[in-house]
Amino acid sequence: MPVLRVALDLPLHRLFDYVLDSSSTAEVGLRVRVPFGRGEKIGVIVEIGDDSDWPLAQLKPAGEIRRDLPPLPRDFLALCDFASSYYQAPLGEVLLQALPAGLKRLDPPKRQAGRQAKKIAPAPRPELTAEQSTAIAAIDFAAGFSANLLHGVTGSGKTEVYLRLVEQALASGRQALLLVPEINLTPQLEERVRARFPETLVVALHSELAEAARERNWRAAFSGEARIVLGTRLAIFTPMPALGLIIVDEEHDASFKQQDGMRYSARDVAVFRAHLAGIPIVLGSATPALETWANAQGGRYGLLTLRERANREASLPDVRILDTRKMVLKEGVSERLIAAIQTRLERGEQSLVFLNRRGYAPVLACPACGWVSRCKRCAANLVLHLADRRLRCHHCGFETGIPKACPTCGNQDIHPFGRGTQRLEGWLQTQFPEARILRVDRDSVKSRKQWEVVLERIHGGEADILVGTQMLAKGHDFPKLTLVGVLGADSALFAADWRAPERLFAQLMQVAGRAGRAELKGEVLIQTQYPDHPLFAAVVAHDYPGFAAQQLKEREQAGFPPYAFQAMLRAEAPEMATAIAFLEQASALPEASADERVMIYDPIPMKMARLANLERGQLLAESSSRPALQAFLPRWRAAIEQLKAPGKLRWHIEVDPLEF
Ligand code: ADP
Ligand code: ZN
Ligand code: ZN
Repeated sequence: MPVLRVALDLPLHRLFDYVLDSSSTAEVGLRVRVPFGRGEKIGVIVEIGDDSDWPLAQLKPAGEIRRDLPPLPRDFLALCDFASSYYQAPLGEVLLQALPAGLKRLDPPKRQAGRQAKKIAPAPRPELTAEQSTAIAAIDFAAGFSANLLHGVTGSGKTEVYLRLVEQALASGRQALLLVPEINLTPQLEERVRARFPETLVVALHSELAEAARERNWRAAFSGEARIVLGTRLAIFTPMPALGLIIVDEEHDASFKQQDGMRYSARDVAVFRAHLAGIPIVLGSATPALETWANAQGGRYGLLTLRERANREASLPDVRILDTRKMVLKEGVSERLIAAIQTRLERGEQSLVFLNRRGYAPVLACPACGWVSRCKRCAANLVLHLADRRLRCHHCGFETGIPKACPTCGNQDIHPFGRGTQRLEGWLQTQFPEARILRVDRDSVKSRKQWEVVLERIHGGEADILVGTQMLAKGHDFPKLTLVGVLGADSALFAADWRAPERLFAQLMQVAGRAGRAELKGEVLIQTQYPDHPLFAAVVAHDYPGFAAQQLKEREQAGFPPYAFQAMLRAEAPEMATAIAFLEQASALPEASADERVMIYDPIPMKMARLANLERGQLLAESSSRPALQAFLPRWRAAIEQLKAPGKLRWHIEVDPLEF
C-alpha cells in the first residue's frame, strides 16, 4: 500500500504519514487533504514510499489529492528543504508559507479573473555608460551559477543594468526574478520594468496584494506565463519553471530579513536558489551589507562597480558636516541649515530635512515628578502624536489619549521632550510661512495610493520643503531637490548595537543620494556634535570601501560576523525569570556543550526586554565555523524540544540574527 509522507504547516520537525487507497495515484509535489486531529488540513506530498515508521494499520487514509496545479517542482522542494535545515524551521512551515492562502484552504475560494493591466507607453533604452557595459558584460549566463555584487553609487544606473540583464534572460527564453525591499516605496521601479517590456507579462508578488490577486500572480509565475516576477522577500519562494536570473535590489536592506515565523534572509536564500538553479544572481546596492562586501572582497562574489552617476549632468552632492557644538540651534535646527533652505526657496528648488523619528515628540514628561509616558506593555516610551492627539507605542501599537495633567502628581504643566517630524514640520512652517511643506512618514503616507500621490506632488513641484523619515531615503529621483539636511544622526553613533554604524552609514548615503540627481548640483548638510567621527569623514568622501574596510577590521578584531557565525535562542514569557530559567536549561543540556567549536553565551534579556506584555530573553550560540554551527543546531534544537517548557513560554531559534 503506498504511503504518502506529507508536510503540514505545524511547528513540528516531522512529516506525517497517510495511506493512499490503491485505486488512486499520487505524485510528489501535489497537495493533499488529510485528516489531522479532529479536523482536516491541506499538506504537500514530499515523499511516496511503501513503508512507515508507524504500523501501517494505524495510518489514516489520505483524502482527496488536489490536481488544480501541476506538482510543485523538485527544485522548489529542494529550496524549501535547504531553508528548513539552514534556518531550523519545520519543512511544512517553509513549504506552506510559500503558497498563496487560497491553495491552503480546505474549501478553495472561487478564482476570479484579473483586471487587464493598463497599457504603459514603452520607454526607450538609453545608451549605456562604459561602466554599465562593463558590468553587464561581466555576467556570463552560459557559465551557470555566479554571485555578483553590483556596487554602484546612488544614481549610477544600477536599474538600467538590471533591465539589460533581464532582457538577456528573456531573450534566451528564461524568466527573471527581481526582489525589492518594499514594493510600496518603489512604484517607479515597477513602472520602469513594465515600460521596458511592454509585451511581457510582469507580475508583482508582495504581502499587500489582495489574496486573489496574489494567487493569480503566483500561478502565472509558476506556469511560466509571467516572464518577470517583481516581489518582496516572500517572492523568493515562488516556483518558476524557467528561472534564469535573480536580482536583489538594495540588497543591504533589513526588510529582506523576516523577523517572525520562519526567520530567514531572502537575500541569502536567493543566493542559494541561484546556486541550486545554476544561474547568475546580482545583488545591487550603493551601501552593501558588510557580509556581502566581505564576500566580494574575498573573491566568492564577483564585484561590479559603478563609480559615476549615469546622468552625465548629475554629480555626487557636496556633503558638509555642521559642528553643532559651536552653533545656536533653534528647535534643533542650525542657522546654517535655515539659510540653505532659504536659498533653495529663492531659487525655486526643493529641500529635504531628514529626521528619522515620526510623531511630534518621542515622549511626554512631567518636570515636577519625573513621570514619562511609557508603554504599559513594552520597554518603550509612548510617542506623542499631536496631529490626532494620541500617545502611541511604535512597537506594539498600543495607544491612548493625551492626559490633561500628570497621571502621577496632577501637575498640569507636562511637556513633550525631544522632537519628531510633526514638530519639525510645524516649526519650519513658522519659519517659512510662505513655503509649501510636505511631511512624508508612515503617519502621513499609509498606503501605496497615498505614496503615489505624494510622489506626484513632489515631482510636480508642489512642495518646497520635504520633512521626512527614511521613507524618503530610498531610491527616488527628485530632479529639483538640491538640499538635504540631516538631523538627529548622533543617536545612532554610540548605540550599543554593533551594527548601528553600518545602518547609519547606509542611511546617510541613501538620503544624501537624493540630492543633485539631475543637472542641479546637490548639497548635504549633516548636523552633529561629533564632527570628527570617522563615519562622517567617509560620508563626506562618498567612500563606502574605506568605511567598510574600517568596520570589517573592527568586526574581525571583535570576532563579530562576518568573522563568526551566530544563532540566537530566544524565549519569551510573562516574566523574565521564566524566560531566563528556560534558556539556562537549554544551555545546560549536554548537546549544548557537545562541540567545542560552538560557544554558548550566558542568557541575557533582549535589548527591548519587554514587548506587548512579554518579557524576552536570549542566548547566543556562536562559532567561527559555519558547518560546525550548522551541525550543532539541529541536535541542540531537538534536545530543547524535549525540555518541559512552562505553558506560557514560547521559544525559537534565529540563524544569522540581525537584532539583539
Ligand atoms: P540607481 O538605481 O543606481 O540609483 P538609476 O538606475 O535610478 O540609478 O539611474 C539614475 C538616473 O540615471 C535615472 O534617471 C536613469 O534614467 C538615468 N540613467 C541610467 N542609465 C543611464 C544611461 N546609460 N544614460 C543616461 N541616463 C541614464
Ligand atoms: Zn508629575
Ligand atoms: Zn508597546
